[in-house]
Order: sequence, then C-alpha cells, then structure tokens
Amino acid sequence: MQWETVIGLEIHAQLATKSKIFSGASTAFGAEPNTQACAVDLGLPGVLPVLNEEAVRCAVTFGLAIGAEVNRRSIFARKNYFYPDLPKGYQISQYEQPIVARGELVIELEGGSSKVIGITRAHLEEDAGKSLHEDFHGMTGIDLNRAGTPLLEIVSEPDLRSAKEAVAYAKAIHSLVRHLGICDGNMQEGSFRVDANVSVRLKGQREFGTRAEIKNVNSFRFLERAINFEIERQIDVIEGGGSVVQETRLYDPDRDETRSMRGKEEAHDYRYFPDPDLLPVVLEESFIDKVRASLPELPAEKKQRFITHYGLPAYDAAFLTADRALADYFEEALKVGGCEPKLAANWVMGDVSAALNKAGLEIGACPVSAAMLGGLLKRIADNTLSGKLAKEVFEAMWAGEGDADAIIEKKGLKQITDESAIEALVDGVLAQFPAQVEEFRSGKDKVFGFLVGQVMKAAKGKANPAQLNAVLKKRLEG
Ligand code: ADP
Ligand code: MG
Repeated sequence: MQWETVIGLEIHAQLATKSKIFSGASTAFGAEPNTQACAVDLGLPGVLPVLNEEAVRCAVTFGLAIGAEVNRRSIFARKNYFYPDLPKGYQISQYEQPIVARGELVIELEGGSSKVIGITRAHLEEDAGKSLHEDFHGMTGIDLNRAGTPLLEIVSEPDLRSAKEAVAYAKAIHSLVRHLGICDGNMQEGSFRVDANVSVRLKGQREFGTRAEIKNVNSFRFLERAINFEIERQIDVIEGGGSVVQETRLYDPDRDETRSMRGKEEAHDYRYFPDPDLLPVVLEESFIDKVRASLPELPAEKKQRFITHYGLPAYDAAFLTADRALADYFEEALKVGGCEPKLAANWVMGDVSAALNKAGLEIGACPVSAAMLGGLLKRIADNTLSGKLAKEVFEAMWAGEGDADAIIEKKGLKQITDESAIEALVDGVLAQFPAQVEEFRSGKDKVFGFLVGQVMKAAKGKANPAQLNAVLKKRLEG
C-alpha cells in the first residue's frame, strides 16, 4: 500500500526579552532554582499580570516577517490544567484571537526545489516552570524560574509531507527568529522547542488520518528520527488491522522510539476563557509601522543578495546566511579584506567553521574577529601569504598571538614572490639532485613533485607555489 505522511509543527520560541511576559522578573537562563520567580510567576493570590510591551513587539516582528495578518486586537485566555510546575492552575495563552494569523514561509528542499508552508497562527503565551526529575531521589524538584517566560507558539498548517520537509521548515523558522533577534534559538537550553503532529493516510485519500503529537524534541536530528519512527509505527499499526490513537507521545533518543505519554486533550478540556485580569491587546497603526520600519533584512533576501551581489554559489550563500551572526562576520571580514568574495566565503566556511566546531564555539565567541580574518584575507589577496602560510597565520591568530600583520612580521612568514629569488632556489635544488633531474628528463614525471618539495623545503615553505611550479618547469624543460 502507498502511504502519505502529513505533518504539522507547533514551535515554541522563547522571546528574547529581559523580563517575563507578565512580570518584571528576569528571564536569564541558568540561575539557581526559584531565584527568578516573583509573586506573579508563582501565581500568588491577589497579584495582577502586566503585559510586557517588548513581547508584543517580538510577536509583531515575526508576523510582519512572514507576511501574516497582524491582528489589531487580540485576547489573552486562560488555558486550565493542573501540573506541579504550573502553580496558578492555568497558563495564560491566546486562543480565539491570537496576535498573528495566516502567514507563510518558503522552505528550500533538497535538489533546489522550494515549497510554501502555511502558518496558521502565532500566539503569545507564558512558559511553565520546570520539573526536575533527576537530582532528587524518588522525588521531583520544581524550578519556577522559567514560569512566565514569554513564548511565541508558531503553528503550521498540516502542509509538510516528510520528516525532511519538517526539518527544513523547523530550520527555516529557527533561522528566521534568530535573524529577527526575537529568540536566541538555543535548543539545548529549551529556547526553541518543536512538537510534531504526525499522521499517515493512503495516497489519494482526502481526509487526514488520526495524528499523534510528539512533544519537545530538542534537536533537528532527533526531530527527523522521531518523525520517521512515528511514520513507521503508525503504518505498522494500521497494516496490522489496528487504528492510530490520538495521543501525545515522547521521543526517547536513547532508544530511538516514541512512547505514549498521555491521551490527547481536546480544546474543550482546557475550558479556555478570556483572562479577566488582562485587557485585550489593541495595536495602533503607528506601533506596527514602527516595527515594520525596524525589520532587518530577512534570511531569504540576504541569501539572494549574497548570490547576486557577491556572486557566491547558492550553497555558500545558504551556508553563510543560515545564521545572521555568521553572515555579519563574513561581510565584515570581506570589507576589511577587500578580496574576492569567494575567498572570504571559503575561509569562513572552511577554516573558521572547522575551528569553531572543534572548539565547540559559536561564531559570536570566535577568538579570531571578523576584522582579524579580514587582515589575513588582505595578505592572501596581495600575495604576501600563500594558502599554506595563511593557515599558519590563522592558527597563530586563533591562539591569541595578535593580528595577521604582527604574526607575519614576528614569524617572518612573508611569501617569496621575487622571481629571481625563486630561480636561485630552483637552481640550487637542481644542482643538488642531478640524478632526479635526469630521471625527469627521461620521462619520469613523478619526480617533479619531489623537486617541488625540495625547493619548498629550501624556501622554508615560503615560496609562492604557482611561481615555484612555473620556474621549475621552465628550468627542467629548458
Ligand atoms: P492542538 O492545538 O489541539 O494541538 P491544532 O488543530 O491546533 O491542535 O493543530 C495543531 C497542529 O497539528 C497544527 O500544526 C496542525 O497543522 C497539525 N495537525 C492537525 N491535524 C493533523 C493531522 N491529521 N496530521 C498531522 N498534523 C495535523
Ligand atoms: Mg498542540
């Protein structure tokens, strides 16, 4: 039988505000448990929530970036449920009138095709606290620092048809919120969490199948695996004569499987109603205009500009613009270096990224600043450095030995480009290895590499490789 997969994602992005959505407590990650939860976050009786304007600004920014409807009037609602990390007994969310509705995002797929994914809505809500199951033998600890952190829940249409498409969409949203500066996107810290709704149906069937919702997958790799596992599981259930149950499932990366967590609630189970403590959010046109005017260049626009303006291949443009900080780094290095854009791109995508990966660092913490890389690029472009010497300089910059010019000076790493100096080196080597020269002249081309190596050695690695090759060839053939 031919099955088709249907997926819709609900993405929770923690908004990068300093204080919480309804209180003045800090949202900084990693503080001692329960040191950043004030009376409002604890849900003590008699307190009143006050909306953080910055959270609204973030939501509107997102709405405008995806060409969505930004609702001039939206409503906060109480979503009632009991959980130990939710002391009020309800979460303040938006239900019937979310702040953002009906947008879309174009995702790029393997092989260069693209697809438009509908975004049903994006609403503001507060995060819950955290239950800590690990450190307390036989008990669970409750940390309410996260309670009240602003979230934007971004709900997609069920437009995704494979795990790969779901990952491409999740990555595109991740890149977008980071570009917009409204979410730090840190998945380990839970700033960006993805729930996947997955169902299968027979090809050609109109109605959707029953879905299962996989909660809180914290990496793109796990998202792909969790969805693929879930697809197989559902197909097995149906082909075995059973039917899929609507439920919430958890992905276990250690066993690479999803497990049932609880039966799926329906909206009416939450008894949503407008929160009487909060006024409707009414947006003035001037506010929206101001947000629109402050929108940065979007990832897709940036990528296009990198292709047309810098003449970079699509792959390079996609790589560099996937992260705004990386794109900024590239542009700054290029400006300082004044070199070919492709040379700068190769360095950022190659040596810089490899060193960052190895050190487990983000571009923001790169010990070689964009200006320093630019200084290196300048010396490659003006032929002071060969590729090999440049790598040596880069390593020294990484180790904190100063900028490129200082290192070139200190280590005497200037490339030899003086033609007569190279000729002298070549002649010296040819005089030293007459047997090899004979071999070459009798047709054994392989010794050419050996002779190149000897000249480079004599030049202490500093001869310009292209010139060295040309001079050696000329002399051997002459
Ligand atoms: P809830 O809020 O109860 O989780 P929604 O109807 O708002 O339910 O849908 C949540 C997500 O599930 C959306 O992203 C939507 O696209 C997706 N979805 C809805 N029905 C299906 C289905 N049959 N298969 C896969 N995804 C679905
Ligand atoms: Mg849901």
